Amino acid sequence: MDLKTFIRDVYDFPKKGIVFKDITTLLLHAGAFGEAIRMLCEPYLDRPVDLIVGIESRGFIFGGAMARELGCGFVPARKPGKLPAETVREEYTLEYGNDAVEIHADAIRRGMNVLVVDDLLATGGTAAATIRLVGKLGGMVTGAAFLIELGFLKGRDRLGDTPLHVLMNFESE
Ligand code: AMP
Repeated sequence: MDLKTFIRDVYDFPKKGIVFKDITTLLLHAGAFGEAIRMLCEPYLDRPVDLIVGIESRGFIFGGAMARELGCGFVPARKPGKLPAETVREEYTLEYGNDAVEIHADAIRRGMNVLVVDDLLATGGTAAATIRLVGKLGGMVTGAAFLIELGFLKGRDRLGDTPLHVLMNFESE
């Protein structure tokens, strides 16, 4: 199954000049969604993963399903002001603007093996900030998994030596 055929390009969203990779067309298709989750989980089946940290908002969809498949817990990394209890925060630069990401301060315990999940790796700012947050709380980032990588934006260069797992790479817009 070629998962790329289930991704829809939306031009000039949310800003002129951006080609938005719409994953809702993949989610619509039970077979494609199931295959994506199976393939995303594959490298982690025989490795210890205590928690998945999913990045708002599409990282919740993939990370949540992966947590069920891998039998581990799930932690939402959210936009500022959304989480009700005490949080830790990191700022980052997005392909289209600035933002920050927060995690509940008591969500990750020292030494836990954490997998970071999002739908798409663009400039890498969001994932890099999330990896820093996990580190702040004493978690060990065992890897980061993405459905899509926009390779031409070189986001992986910002993720240091974190092992990456990516299902589809787009080398140009
Ligand atoms: P970045 O921090 O630049 O790696 O941006 C990654 C985050 O922004 C992910 O949560 C993506 O969902 C979203 N994102 C950035 N660029 C795009 C794009 N071209 N299409 C779809 N989502 C994007």
